[in-house]
Amino acid sequence: MKKNIKDYNLDELKQALIKLGEKPYRAEQIFKWIFVENVISFDEMTNLSLELRNKLNQNFDLHVFKILQKQESKDGTKKYLFDVLDENAIETVLMEYKHGRTICVSSQIGCRMGCRFCASTGIKFSRNLSSGEIIEQLLAIQRDENIKISNLVFMGIGEPLDNYNNVINAIKILNNQKGINMGARHISVSTSGLVPKIYDLADENMQCTLSVSLHSANNETRSKMMPINKTYDIQELIKACKYYIQKTNRRVSFEYALAKDNNDNLGDAKELVNLLKGMLCHVNLIPINKIENGNYIKSTNENIINFRDYLNQKGIVATIRRELGSDIDAACGQLRKKEVEKCKLMQKPI
Ligand code: SAH
Repeated sequence: MKKNIKDYNLDELKQALIKLGEKPYRAEQIFKWIFVENVISFDEMTNLSLELRNKLNQNFDLHVFKILQKQESKDGTKKYLFDVLDENAIETVLMEYKHGRTICVSSQIGCRMGCRFCASTGIKFSRNLSSGEIIEQLLAIQRDENIKISNLVFMGIGEPLDNYNNVINAIKILNNQKGINMGARHISVSTSGLVPKIYDLADENMQCTLSVSLHSANNETRSKMMPINKTYDIQELIKACKYYIQKTNRRVSFEYALAKDNNDNLGDAKELVNLLKGMLCHVNLIPINKIENGNYIKSTNENIINFRDYLNQKGIVATIRRELGSDIDAACGQLRKKEVEKCKLMQKPI
């Protein structure tokens, strides 16, 4: 298979063109065609000679995703199912907020983390997505909707820090001012808590938002929800988050999915306050979304509000996340295998 040209950051593209006997400045022109003009063929790159376009065609591919399915929620959220060209499919979600459009991208095909409350756990891990495939999710939606997307979150299928190099390279490509020019502050990396990789991310000095899926301040409860907690417990995780804050001066965001009688009473809130006291952070409370065969059910509205109010009273900034796209199974933790398999059987683009 030809190399995906979207996997190359600008420096790598320059090197690749030099190897092909071309001048490095051509890389900037090509980079702009790919990431700004969002073309779907090398033949559209009209300021390049026919010879160079032929060379590109021979050596590279633009890896344009086919849309297998697109669903729209009543609230305007859109869920895409893309054919990633090797028999696999992935899901991506587009959300509209007052402050702009946010895309929720997948970073892997399947996930190895095994969180008990997450539908992606049912998907057998098959491989990492390349940086080009991560970015193509954004480009494909921008083409389909004729829009510009302002924010990106790594909260789709997969554990981004388990695909560290490709995710970092994708962020570098997204950041590049000669291309998509999306500032790191508009990008959130969400992790279930791969502690050593949080240190690595802090050392990149990238200014992206670190979002940590905490869900409990109690090791026993968290280990039941998230097996990763048996490898890196809450204390190690918080230490790594403090390092991230110290290195980047950025506020860390903690995700907390509230499940009835599991992690939603005032005792749980107290433990959370003790854990996060004095930290530069924000807590995002999410009413847990029930998944097929899942044991966790949503907390009552009253419990959710009490939980938030308690945190706020104790000086921890907490907000309840608006649920988007739940009617099309596009809400947190709902991206899953069933749709992917169904569509693979149909193999029918819309
Ligand atoms: N692996 C990464 C990113 C993918 S999950 C991570 O764990 O952070 C994105 C977010 O959705 C995480 O905060 C995850 O804990 C949350 N999530 C997963 N399943 C959920 C569910 N059923 N209800 C609410 N949130 C869920």
